Amino acid sequence: MAQTTSNHTQNVSGWAAHDSSGKITPYNFKRRENGINDVTIKILYCGICHTDIHHVKNDWGITMYPVVPGHEITGIITKVGGNVTNLKVGDRAGVGCLAASCLNCEYCKEGEENYCDQLQFTYNGIFWDGSITYGGYSEFIVADYRYVVRVPENLAMDAAAPLLCAGITVYSPLKDNNLLDSPGPGPGKRIGIVGLGGLGHIAVKFGKAFGHHVTVISTSPSKEKEARDRLGADDFILSTNADQMQLKRRTLDFILDTVSAQHSLGPTLDLLKVKGTLVIVGAPEKPMDLPSFPLIFGKRAVKGSIIGGIKETQDMMDVCGKYNITCDIEVVNISQINEALDRLGKNDVKYRFVIDVAGKPSGL
Ligand SMILES: [Zn+2]
Ligand SMILES: [Zn+2]
Repeated sequence: MAQTTSNHTQNVSGWAAHDSSGKITPYNFKRRENGINDVTIKILYCGICHTDIHHVKNDWGITMYPVVPGHEITGIITKVGGNVTNLKVGDRAGVGCLAASCLNCEYCKEGEENYCDQLQFTYNGIFWDGSITYGGYSEFIVADYRYVVRVPENLAMDAAAPLLCAGITVYSPLKDNNLLDSPGPGPGKRIGIVGLGGLGHIAVKFGKAFGHHVTVISTSPSKEKEARDRLGADDFILSTNADQMQLKRRTLDFILDTVSAQHSLGPTLDLLKVKGTLVIVGAPEKPMDLPSFPLIFGKRAVKGSIIGGIKETQDMMDVCGKYNITCDIEVVNISQINEALDRLGKNDVKYRFVIDVAGKPSGL
């Protein structure tokens, strides 16, 4: 579809999956001219998200091949359109999951474009001009300025890339539940993070930066040392250990569940105090087991959340600049994408792969 769109005249080198084997190979395609509302970004780095794996393998049955994945993009602006006043050539820019939305509905007007019914994603979406969107596994991207954020000067461009999806995914529920600001002297809230992966490790960093008591809840005993020593978590609960789970009943104000593997929510809910909130950002493929007793006997709430709006994403970037928060990453070059996707499928990464798209040394 994109190849026949008349305004798509710029040749781009990228990397795509062409079928459900999921193998990524070089792919040359076209992007649109830089329009009045667009900026062109030379891509430096692109994080590898679990969503990329689901798309390259067509796990959700929605993939339009060839698919160029990647929605954790950082780079340098090389062109700006006439309507763009907040970004300029040379700026350090980030593009996350959003490529377009209706701009008119109540959610778009409130800065919650991520809940717009007409939302189109950075890859495997349909842009306003009818073309299929292609993501960050490519040398440059043309993006509408309303979906682009600035990356603070003090953040490394490689380690900042996963903030555009993983970071905002965990930041938004913290904000929604009034957990953003350091409470000042004295302890903050007691918050639990289920799962210590790409999402969870950033949530721990946010929780500590905002002055909370942070408990990591995991099925993996090997994560305890990592959680406490490397990320500064205050406590650790091994969720497969019934004694530990029993001991910590009703101790947490808030829990963020980042796990995408199948699991029951009942035992996790029991860790919440009365009126506590559990927010789900992981996405198991089958319905989750949600027993009623822990809900009604604890007046607890279960909510979901997906990424964040663009203003919120910029706010998060600025907060990360203020507290010097980035992701723990392993940088790979283009020739290692397939290996990295394989390893990510086995959760064999601490904590995010980032592709060095431009072939520059890391830490730029
Ligand atoms: Zn993602
Ligand atoms: Zn809308």
